[in-house]
Amino acid sequence: MHQTGSGPVTFVNAVIAGGRGALRVAGSRIASVNCAARPGDLACAGDAVVDLRGDRVLPGLINAHDHLQLNTLPALPAPGLFDNAREWISQVNLRRRSDPAFEAGVAVALNERLLIGGMKNLLSGVTTVAHHDPLYPFLAGEHFPTRVVNHCGWSHSLYIDGEEEVRNSYRSTPPSWPWIIHAAEGVDAEARDEFSRLDALGCVGPNTLIVHGVALDGAQRARLEIAGAGLIWCPSSNLRLFGRTAQVTELCRHGRVALGTDSRLSGSRDLLSELGMAREAAGMDEAALESLVTRDAAALLKLDDRGKLRAGARADLLVLPAGLPLTSATRADIRLVVLGGRALYADTDYAEVMMPSTHWAAVHVDGKPKMLESGLAAALSTARAGESGVSISELTWRAA
Ligand SMILES: [Zn+2]
Repeated sequence: MHQTGSGPVTFVNAVIAGGRGALRVAGSRIASVNCAARPGDLACAGDAVVDLRGDRVLPGLINAHDHLQLNTLPALPAPGLFDNAREWISQVNLRRRSDPAFEAGVAVALNERLLIGGMKNLLSGVTTVAHHDPLYPFLAGEHFPTRVVNHCGWSHSLYIDGEEEVRNSYRSTPPSWPWIIHAAEGVDAEARDEFSRLDALGCVGPNTLIVHGVALDGAQRARLEIAGAGLIWCPSSNLRLFGRTAQVTELCRHGRVALGTDSRLSGSRDLLSELGMAREAAGMDEAALESLVTRDAAALLKLDDRGKLRAGARADLLVLPAGLPLTSATRADIRLVVLGGRALYADTDYAEVMMPSTHWAAVHVDGKPKMLESGLAAALSTARAGESGVSISELTWRAA
């Protein structure tokens, strides 16, 4: 077996969709997938072959809601027990002026804060993030740890932007792009009325994605579904702030829900923690939960080149240990993350066969030795706001 470097690679003995098979990557795309292949069936002459020995391959995960620049700020105390989003935003603004730790967090350079937001996602197997704020230039750069959705319209909310700006935002978003807005985030009448106000403004259509939806009642959820719209569900944030979350069972059954972490100001540590929370909150089975961060998320965000393992899709991959359910996994369990055909985060054995040693830096993640792409490790080593639980052991790694 030789290192894959940048040439074609075939993963064999991989668990894919319940079967044991092979997956071939050429350049930045998946070239072919065979769920029942024997080792060697797919590999072409000259391919590097990586034996996964029964480890499971999934599409790289999609985090449908985050604010990438806010993940280094101190979290709000839980439970918040607010009635609506306006109340918790004003609490954030108060802390911004009165809490030294919060002020210090805000003072860290924007790109460093964005980097930590990217690392949070990459280390949890996320390869695509829907970021709900301006698309800062650093997010589109080749050194950012994940993809960030760029073909998307968004508005913060009715209470911050006002009706006219919200309507203009929706109307100026091409129908082929998703349009995303915080709405029904709370438990009072103000939160409950937001969906109807959006509908009256003509802003509930097939490309509309409502973030939170805690206050939606049954009729509103039915209307959302009939309109072809979707819900981005962030249960950790909802439970912390309001003590309850959206009713998602029916919407999930019809593929109308994607899962998001929100930022760590109110949300969970990462998308893997959020999946665990979703399992507790909604009692869905493993396959339904996985689709909230893969297939259904891609469909709602109109990303037809990811979210499924199929020929032609982007080679964004997550490898989990054999037999470990995704919703029980932590970031230290992850065996390998590949973005566009490039391995970025791995256990040592896969790191050795995937890329030359100069590609990697040795790190510890939650106490477990791991390998991180050296450029990301170098950037992380100089960031004032570090990622809690991650330490860099060696910036230049040499395989034993
Ligand atoms: Zn948000």
